[in-house]
Amino acid sequence: MAALAPGGQQVAPIATDALIIGAGPVGLFQVFQLGLLDIHAHVVDALPYAGGQCMELYPDKPIYDIPAVPATTGRQLTASLLQQIAPFGATFHLGQEVSALQQRSDGRFDVETSRGTRFVSKTIFIAAGVGAFQPRRLQVDGLAAFNNTQVFYQAPGPTGFAGKRLLVVGGDEAALEQALAFAQDGPGRAASVTLLHRRDAFTAEPATVARMRALCELGAMQFRVGQITGYDAQDGQLTHAQITGVDGLTQALALDAMLVCLGLSPKLGPVADWGLAMERKQLQVDTEKFSTNVPGIFAVGDINTYPGKKKLILCGFHECVLAAFGAAPLIFPDKKIQLQYTTTSPRLHQLLGVAPVVN
Ligand code: FAD
Repeated sequence: MAALAPGGQQVAPIATDALIIGAGPVGLFQVFQLGLLDIHAHVVDALPYAGGQCMELYPDKPIYDIPAVPATTGRQLTASLLQQIAPFGATFHLGQEVSALQQRSDGRFDVETSRGTRFVSKTIFIAAGVGAFQPRRLQVDGLAAFNNTQVFYQAPGPTGFAGKRLLVVGGDEAALEQALAFAQDGPGRAASVTLLHRRDAFTAEPATVARMRALCELGAMQFRVGQITGYDAQDGQLTHAQITGVDGLTQALALDAMLVCLGLSPKLGPVADWGLAMERKQLQVDTEKFSTNVPGIFAVGDINTYPGKKKLILCGFHECVLAAFGAAPLIFPDKKIQLQYTTTSPRLHQLLGVAPVVN
């Protein structure tokens, strides 16, 4: 669905030289390598923040194999990359998945996201890793019919559950934080909050678990161990969740809304539908330019495959350099593209916004 301006007219697509799909570490470094060649990029990611697997799967775990960085973490590496690419002013479009990609007769690409943002780009860089991170769905037959009316995978704002009987499903930090937020005094307070998790152990900070248990003791919220195995509905409204406990007994819990926080998992999703040559769910590329079988579409990082491919951040970084040099002649057909050193090139100093070196 194309985005509409307040008056109802269609918003023109954003015209750009380069569009990067994926803001993981490799997508971020692609911004840098394009920037050195004076190419501005737009970046789209399904997650609401940059960093890809580094932020989503191991933000605080150490990484020891980034060249010249003896030790870092997923979070620190992301922060460093964002700092490094800042001079190039890439435009980020987060929290939206690229859903459609089509080539025009003039060679440019039409791209559209799940939020209706549209682009027309001369080149595309797919840095989609292992796929777009999406909320894990509750597998209960028929329950999806209530999605976004009574069943939510993201809270509909801080007061979206005010005065409602809320069931929060999940046992990680995000689930506990959400349950606490809607159980505490304030304009967003729910009429009741029940946290449901399949066991009485959590993957959350001990302090968060302690706060949750304290609120349960005060009667400000409830905690139940079990899983949703069914539901009741009346006149098109979800009225109860059927909860089966570890003892095998099933009980109905009356509710107005359900917030499901079962974490995120990557889904390859639409990338597989764009008619690009693939091998075992990865995009086939050459190793000269990291181009796919469609000229103008490049693939870097975990999403690509070629003989000897290693799914490492370092390898993805190298791929970004060659992909940027592969794309530059398509963007500047009349310009001689030269390799320059960041140490000595006045032009690169200008692009990087650093002071020229005076000897
Ligand atoms: P990703 O990090 O997967 O990022 C891809 C991004 O693309 C995601 O944010 C996703 O939401 C987005 N995306 C996908 N499809 C779409 C779409 N259609 N629309 C919008 N957005 C989309 N590597 C190392 O080198 N050293 C290590 O020590 C190391 N440790 C690791 C530890 C763990 C636990 C794991 C799981 C991996 C580790 N890796 C390590 C591997 C490393 O994280 C990956 O190689 C790296 O993240 C790949 O980067 P990427 O940018 O290609 O993809």
